[in-house]
Amino acid sequence: MPHLLSAHDLPLAPMLERIRQYREGTTPRQGRGTIALLFYEPSTRTRGAFEQACVMLGYHPLVLTPSISSIVKGESLADTVRTLCAQGVRAIVIRHPHAGAAHTASRFSTVPILNAGDGAHEHPTQALLDIYTLWSHRGYPNPHTRWLEGVKVAIVGDVKHSRVARSNAILLTQAGAEVWLCAPPTLLPDAPLPGVQQTHSIEQALQNAHVVMALRLQTERMESGFLPSLNAYRRDYQITEARLQVAHPDCVVMHPGPIQRGVEIEDAVADGSRSLILTQVQVGLTVRAVCLEYALEN
Ligand code: ASP
Repeated sequence: MPHLLSAHDLPLAPMLERIRQYREGTTPRQGRGTIALLFYEPSTRTRGAFEQACVMLGYHPLVLTPSISSIVKGESLADTVRTLCAQGVRAIVIRHPHAGAAHTASRFSTVPILNAGDGAHEHPTQALLDIYTLWSHRGYPNPHTRWLEGVKVAIVGDVKHSRVARSNAILLTQAGAEVWLCAPPTLLPDAPLPGVQQTHSIEQALQNAHVVMALRLQTERMESGFLPSLNAYRRDYQITEARLQVAHPDCVVMHPGPIQRGVEIEDAVADGSRSLILTQVQVGLTVRAVCLEYALEN
């Protein structure tokens, strides 16, 4: 069994010839290639789903996180992207704490970039899985129509720092939904999002809502002082069965995860019959596979 511990161990001439064969494409390659998953922020659902989606489509997922890559040595995003492209990855999935990082990456990339969440900006694949979950729950209405017309969706929580809220507002309004964003005044966006209503009254947001989407408090993106206290937030904004009494009788509840149980949503609602939370997780894998396929085939 040959170990490769020193340059002395390398059979130079045959190795050179073999490398040339690979580079000139005379040796068949296994699989469809590699997709890089560049995760500068923690993730369970999104990363797991993209990783499994790569495998499902026959690609090898190459997961890179700052602590195990040259990012920790100070390599810039541009150079990391250029390096991955030079290594021949077929696409790069990126999650980053800064809004706009995916756009920046796309300027240096020769392969498709998929945004898996950039700061408080956007999380398009989450929004797609959320709207797919609603589409299937509503019995697959004609997707070429404004099939969410007359449906009120209340997105409640830390809207200001939520990329999920921003991407969902885009897709939900496209399908005709009446979208309400609800948060304490300090956690509403500075500038209103187009086509959506904003309120800090949870009663107004939940009144006759068909869908309630709860959002986590994004403490990692908050400077201090946004909330008087966690208890005040729970008291005034937690999604509870009692509060949902004013919602539409068939109201469903969603959450992109991770859930902070007992903060933005009470257990009885998260685990109750109205909850679509685990369906969202299940749908996540297929949605990422379809997004990768779309990016690679167009
Ligand atoms: N998982 C979602 C995101 O990455 C929601 C959250 O973290 O609260 O934005």
